Parts: sequence; C-alpha cells; structure tokens
Amino acid sequence: MKKIAVFTSGGDSPGMNACIRAAVRTGIYRGLEVYGIYRGYEGMIEGDIKRLQSHSVSNIVQRGGTILKSARSMEFKTPEGRKQAFENLKKLGIEGLVAIGGDGTFTGAKIFYEEFGIPTVGCPGTIDNDIYGTDYTIGFDTAVNTALEAIDKIRDTAAAHDRIFFVEVMGRDAGFIAVESGIGGGAEFVMVPETKTDLDQVVKSLKNLRKSKSSSIIVVAEGDDLGSADEIMLQVKAKIKDPSKEFKVTTLGHIQRGGNPTARDRVLASRCGMAAVEGLLEGKTNCMAGVMNMQVVYTPFADCIGKPKPLIADHLKLIDILSI
Ligand code: ATP
Repeated sequence: MKKIAVFTSGGDSPGMNACIRAAVRTGIYRGLEVYGIYRGYEGMIEGDIKRLQSHSVSNIVQRGGTILKSARSMEFKTPEGRKQAFENLKKLGIEGLVAIGGDGTFTGAKIFYEEFGIPTVGCPGTIDNDIYGTDYTIGFDTAVNTALEAIDKIRDTAAAHDRIFFVEVMGRDAGFIAVESGIGGGAEFVMVPETKTDLDQVVKSLKNLRKSKSSSIIVVAEGDDLGSADEIMLQVKAKIKDPSKEFKVTTLGHIQRGGNPTARDRVLASRCGMAAVEGLLEGKTNCMAGVMNMQVVYTPFADCIGKPKPLIADHLKLIDILSI
C-alpha cells in the first residue's frame, strides 16, 4: 500500500482534527502518500481530494470541527454516486481509506468496500457515543463537559429562584450524554430513550423532594420517547398543578458539538487515527479502530452498525441514589 486517503463524514465532533492529524502523520511516518478528501462522501464523488503533508495538520490538535469539513451525501447512497467516488480514488491510485464518522459513515463505508474492495478502517467520530466497539467515541467527552458546564450555570440561577429546570442535551437515540452530564451535574432526574420514564413517578418525586432543595434539574436526552424537553415540561407542569412552581426549559443544541476537545478526546482520537493506518498496513479492512478497556480493538463495521451499545448499568441507579 502506497497511497491512502482520510475523510470526515456525518456530524462533526470535537477531536476529529486530532484524529486526522494522527492518521496523516502515521501514514507519512510509515512512508505513505496521504490524501485528504474534503466534505466526506460528497467530496469523494466530486473529486475534492488533496495531498496532505505533515505541516498540513499543524496546529489543529486543539481545534474543534474538522479541517476536512464534513457533509451528508445523498448521492453516495446511490450506486452511480459510489461508482463516481471509486473512479476518483482509482485515478489518484488511492489504495486505502480512513473514515472518521458515525454509524451512517460506516454503513456507507461497508457498502463501498463490498462493491469496490478498497480497504477501509473507520474511527468513531461522533459526540453521541452510540457506536458499538469502543468504550467512548471521539467528541463524547468534550460534549459531556460542555453540557456539564451549562448545567452548573443553570443550577446557579435555578437555585436563586427555586425553579425546576428541564435541560435538553444531544445524543440522538442514545442517552449517554444525558446520563454522564446528569451524574456530573447532580441532576434530580435523567430521561433517556433506553428506559421508559414514569412521568407520574417523576411528578410524585418532585413534589416530595426535601424542602431544603432549592432547585431541581431534569436532564432530557433529545431522543426521549416522551418528547422534547419543552413537551415534557408542559406535561409535568399540568400534572403538578402548583402555580407557585416555576418551570423553565433550556435546549443546549449545537454548542455541544463545538469547542476545543478535552485531553481525553485528543488522546482517544490520536490513538484511533494511528490504529486505523496501522490496521490498513496490517491488511485490516471493513472494520473500526476503537478503544475498549484501554486497548485498541478492531470491530467489524457490521457489528459497529448492527449491535446496540447499552448504557453503563449502574449509571441510572447512581442518579436515583444521589438525588435523594
Ligand atoms: P453522526 O452519528 O454524527 O450523525 P453519521 O456518520 O452517522 O454521523 P450520517 O449522516 O448518518 O452520519 O451518515 C454520513 C453519510 O454516510 C451520509 O450522508 C451518506 O453519505 C453515508 N451513508 C449513510 N448511510 C448510507 C447507506 N445506507 N448507503 C450509502 N451511504 C450511506
């Protein structure tokens, strides 16, 4: 293998740049020519591909976002789009790919490998932490810390006015960000898609919370079955029927996707980026490089996409116990 290319795809996440940097420099260290594909599969189809040098990735390890840009490509979902992407890679003689993204990115990579046989190793780049085959995804730790910082600030104002705050965090269909920011922020309740919340129980507990508690924070994962934080707040308000209680909603939104990556994310991203290139050189393909129990592991894309990743079992119990 002489030439490889790296790209970022799907939602961006803090640490993607550190991952790109590690893949580029590992490739160069191992004597490869490394290319960057801009805007994910969109750029692969349009031929937006440039050679990268070691200096191309200088001064990016600390930056959020992705210097290669990211995109969602409908065209890559068509056989014609993928054929065009393959022709562009073939023209440049690219023999291996490092795909940094989430489950959609790996679904596309798997289909592309099966059709055209260009070896591909993925790196888990998403804030949602919803990918099987790695304890944490690149960007998750930063997103949790961003949410936590916001919750701390909300707690100050909630306590000053005896308010009940509903804070909506990201995570798509997974509750990892909600659970970890909830534990760290001392939330009274956390609502996640993985478990069914009994709203009557929440209302009962809110009414019974000891009098000395001057604020209540309920963290809601965006994918919760009961609806958005706004909708849940209205349901709770209707059930509590206490005009003296004030209810507020804060939706954190895209601030969770930006910002400088934490040390944990930079290290994880660097390990995955290096492991992806080394994996390619060892003949690995159609798999993702992740870190489980502190060790680099390679998991087939089919499992990363197909197997659900459960929440850590004692995390929800922790929230119940610690909020008394
Ligand atoms: P995140 O979890 O942060 O949203 P993601 O990688 O899951 O990241 P998606 O938008 O789901 O983000 O997927 C990224 C891209 O992967 C899509 O825009 C599309 O180009 C490609 N892709 C997804 N699913 C398929 C598929 N079934 N066939 C071909 N390509 C696909």
